Amino acid sequence: MVRPKKQKGNRASFNPAQSQRAFEEVVAQVEQAILDGTFKPGDRLPAERDLTEQFRVSRGTLREAFRVLEYAGLVTISKGTTGGAFVSHQSSLMVANSLKWLLRMKRIQYSDLAEFRERLEGGAARDAARNATPRHLQRLKQIVAQLRATSRQPELWAQTAELDLEFHRTVVEASGNELSFIVECSIFDCMREAFGAFSGASGPRVLRDLSDVLRRIEAHDGDGAEAAMRRHIRYFNGLTQAQAASTPQTRNRRSRSLVDV
Ligand SMILES: [Zn+2]
Repeated sequence: MVRPKKQKGNRASFNPAQSQRAFEEVVAQVEQAILDGTFKPGDRLPAERDLTEQFRVSRGTLREAFRVLEYAGLVTISKGTTGGAFVSHQSSLMVANSLKWLLRMKRIQYSDLAEFRERLEGGAARDAARNATPRHLQRLKQIVAQLRATSRQPELWAQTAELDLEFHRTVVEASGNELSFIVECSIFDCMREAFGAFSGASGPRVLRDLSDVLRRIEAHDGDGAEAAMRRHIRYFNGLTQAQAASTPQTRNRRSRSLVDV
């Protein structure tokens, strides 16, 4: 692969893509420019016309390359006058996309993800009991206080579900392991559809479970925090399994949509 020439400032100049599969060369050069820091997360890549001239490829080839880069989670593409291709901030997107491929190829099952999540988050709750900073504890308390207001009202279920997710993310963040956080966010991304299995009726249970987890994290009770978090996730996994079993005719559609989010 030809490395792109570095230039001053935030610009790379790319070499003409010569091979038959020109889009692959475009992908490789843009990847390299991101890896070597020529373009950093949040940076906008040069405009389409500029890039087609530098690579000497058609717009179609360039767009094909950017679809690959977008799918790999390296760039995000937004439309409109302020739009363009931007280097992605979300490292979890890359992991999420890989997981979606593995699900599609049936190398892993949805139930594997659910079980893995129980282990990952159980361990995270245990670590959070040791590592949580005052800022994390404050955030967890705020979430539980907000849950107290929403969880008993089924019509506020969407907010309750969002608070639940935020609680999980905060616990994993509080565990202090960045990789766990990235993996957790990507699992959520793959499981998003399954959260429909929770309903308004689950609100009080969510409040009770998460209050229990918080109490044990605050008390630096690692064993208790892990057990409480695992109990909560097993409850959720049980609901999603029960829902899949009770609606066999929608099962295929649902399992497809799990990986199409
Ligand atoms: Zn939850």
